[in-house]
Amino acid sequence: MPMPLTRRSFAGALGAAAGAALLETRAARAAVLAAVHRGATDDAIVLSFNENPYGPSASALEAARRAANIGNRYPDAADDEIRAVIAKHHGVAPDRVTLGCGSSEILQMADTAFTGKGKKAVAAEPTFEAVLDFARVLSTEPVKVPLTSDFRHDLQKMAAACDASTGLVYVCNPNNPTGTIVTGDELASFAAAVPASTTILVDEAYHHFVEDPRYRTACELMDKHPNLVVARTFSKIYGMAGLRLGYAVGSKERIAAMAKYATFSNANAVVLAAARASLEDTELVPRVRKTMNDTRRWLVAEMAKQGRRTIPSETNFVMIDVGGDVTPLIATFKEKKILVGRKFPSLPNWLRITIGKPEEVQAFAAALKEIVPVKTAAA
Ligand code: PLP
Repeated sequence: MPMPLTRRSFAGALGAAAGAALLETRAARAAVLAAVHRGATDDAIVLSFNENPYGPSASALEAARRAANIGNRYPDAADDEIRAVIAKHHGVAPDRVTLGCGSSEILQMADTAFTGKGKKAVAAEPTFEAVLDFARVLSTEPVKVPLTSDFRHDLQKMAAACDASTGLVYVCNPNNPTGTIVTGDELASFAAAVPASTTILVDEAYHHFVEDPRYRTACELMDKHPNLVVARTFSKIYGMAGLRLGYAVGSKERIAAMAKYATFSNANAVVLAAARASLEDTELVPRVRKTMNDTRRWLVAEMAKQGRRTIPSETNFVMIDVGGDVTPLIATFKEKKILVGRKFPSLPNWLRITIGKPEEVQAFAAALKEIVPVKTAAA
């Protein structure tokens, strides 16, 4: 009996030589998509997981195919090589970089290294919940700090919530699900206010989409604050969510503490090759950023025309006020073969829409107009 393809088992499957072949045809991609996104059909519009609809770049796919041919070999050398490339990219030594099976594993490694029974993990509410989910498994006490009234991290309250028992404080910048940023200056003041014994984990999964000039990567603060670790991913702008690669950059000590908990060869040969090709393609990031941000601007303008509020986003997703609980709406969209974001309990009336291709986003906007008439949403 064939194994069901979950998001996790798909990563493993793709690590095998068969993986690249799965990407060969449009039909095969659609079939995989349908299997990976439970409930999706081949022709569904998927705007639910903050993925990049364009997929890996052509050079990444070509590199992945070549790497799949030597899928019988352990990828130790490729692992070392990409850590060196990433380290150079950030201007640090390779022992300040560790890889993860997606940045999800990086968050898990940070929790394992820095939290546990008797310790606390501080995060915003709402934010990307995985970091607190892993912390709970380790019997860590989660501390949630509500966002400000303009949907941004309340860094002052988050710093005040950190004490000697706080192992980790998580800043998602830009934040998922709101798409909002904290500025470089705000982050610098925050890093100075948090105890040196607390690890500050800044998740920059959506870093490459940001255009607001007040934003600065937390990497700039790492030399001054050795307790600061930055997580990045190849899942978003690089379009490789199914291939699975993330990494952390930080001080040698913090990175060594996390790396102890990485699975042996946690990054497979196919993704290492694809990631390297992506990093070498200097056109990729500006091209995808412009395409996806332009589509987001279209959607935001369209929502304004429809009389709906949106949260200003610096990412490949946007929150839309639909004027009522999103739960029934999500089901209605599913019937129309449009998969939209899940409900975030602290923001029950806000629907998170991932930026897809222009025609996908246009189809969503037209369907929303039909399903939730404007006067209801604006009420
Ligand atoms: N961090 C944030 C903020 C995310 O939104 C996501 C996924 O959506 C992740 C981390 C995990 O991404 P991945 O494990 O694919 O790198």
